[in-house]
Amino acid sequence: MISQSIQELRATLPNHVQLIAVSKTHSPEAILEAYAAGQRDFGENKVQEMVDKYTQLPKDIRWHMIGHLQTNKVKYIAPFVHLIHGVESMKLLQEINKQGNKNQRIIPCLLQFHIAQEQTKFGLTKEEAQEILTSSDFHSMKHISLHGVMGMATFTENAAQIRKEFKALQGIFMALKTAFFETSKEFKEISMGMSDDYPLAIEEGSTLIRVGSKIFGKRF
Ligand SMILES: *Cc1c(COP(=O)(O)O)cnc(C)c1O
Repeated sequence: MISQSIQELRATLPNHVQLIAVSKTHSPEAILEAYAAGQRDFGENKVQEMVDKYTQLPKDIRWHMIGHLQTNKVKYIAPFVHLIHGVESMKLLQEINKQGNKNQRIIPCLLQFHIAQEQTKFGLTKEEAQEILTSSDFHSMKHISLHGVMGMATFTENAAQIRKEFKALQGIFMALKTAFFETSKEFKEISMGMSDDYPLAIEEGSTLIRVGSKIFGKRF
């Protein structure tokens, strides 16, 4: 079932869109089934769960941290994490940079933006991001590489609203690209779109979709 959903989903994706299989709450066995179907990018939202799965599973899996990351937990994933999607403060950037230094690596990150109507969702405003990106503190960080932006749309059936929010994130990406990353080869990712809204996200410029329940079934 899992390998079939993965193959069906992948067949519909344009070449420039990468699928991240969101495996949170699902077993290592379920992940291995997706792995056997060729899937290598997996998303988790809890540090302990990601570390446990990293320890047990094949080492060529690319682990994406897609959840809210607490500063004091960065150290556990710093040695191996492939991409941190939810960076939304200077404090977190500083800690990731510090742990990157300790592990002698450059850690790829995305800046998370608040695009939804719900106040409960995390993320920066464009102004906050500009403040970070113009600061000398940021420019002195040698162990962080910003690869783009991430956002989550409002939980709603209203496709027009969702599309508007994805458009806004694409607009923020373009503005930052022009202002701060014109010469960067890495700053090219827009992480948006989940099981219910990824086709819309792709139409609005997504390069990384984070799909869980459509692959693994409902979470309990
Ligand atoms: C759980 C989660 C997803 C996947 O959600 P589905 O609706 O199961 O596809 C994507 N992104 C984030 C940030 C998540 O927490």
